[in-house]
Amino acid sequence: MQIAIDGPAGAGKSTIAKRLAKESGYIYVDTGAMYRAMALYLLRRGISAEDKAGIESACEDADISIKYIDGEQNVILNGENVNGLIRTQEVSNMASASSVNGKVRQKLVSLQQKLAESTDVVMDGRDIGTTVLPDAEVKIYLTASVKVRAKRRYDELIAKGEESDLKVIEQEIRERDERDMTREISPLKKADDAIEVDTSDMGIEEVVNAINGIIKEHGR
Ligand code: C5P
Repeated sequence: MQIAIDGPAGAGKSTIAKRLAKESGYIYVDTGAMYRAMALYLLRRGISAEDKAGIESACEDADISIKYIDGEQNVILNGENVNGLIRTQEVSNMASASSVNGKVRQKLVSLQQKLAESTDVVMDGRDIGTTVLPDAEVKIYLTASVKVRAKRRYDELIAKGEESDLKVIEQEIRERDERDMTREISPLKKADDAIEVDTSDMGIEEVVNAINGIIKEHGR
């Protein structure tokens, strides 16, 4: 069984995917974390998002894998657990900028497909329903307005005690959406057979219930 959840940043994909995985006993695969680990590698090496050749050679040197610790996905970059280092704004922006690269996508898509070969998964990302798992039994396109998504990110950062500016976050989300939706390879878009759920005016429980309904109807 494969459940694919795609959508723009801040739509609630990871919160919902984690809940669905817990309830069903399936493995949760957060593909964004892999693009983030790749971005961290590039930032550490001082390779810019425009340096195509640098990124392509970095793809060969960066070994990215995932490991589950207490049921939680951890990303391992060249033997180092980098889970605590990949959620910064700097890494978010670099992940969005470097994920347009075909070599980066090829490397990570193949890792994601391997993970889903032998086990039931709930996988979230941007191209899961369109490219990574085109035969997924259930495909959800989770979205929300830019304003709502920016406010969610802002509240998350404030709750963590980090300083934050709502206008800046909103602008960054707009830029990420634009890049993710217009890139040449596997842009973010709703798969033809995906069901769209707009979470702008919905709470977590409501979204989980709605998707569980869709899974009952369309799943095996
Ligand atoms: O989902 P998350 O915000 O962690 O993803 C970080 C970035 O990685 C996204 O902005 C997107 O550019 C890229 N990404 C992607 N394909 C995926 C998952 C993430 O291009 N399947």
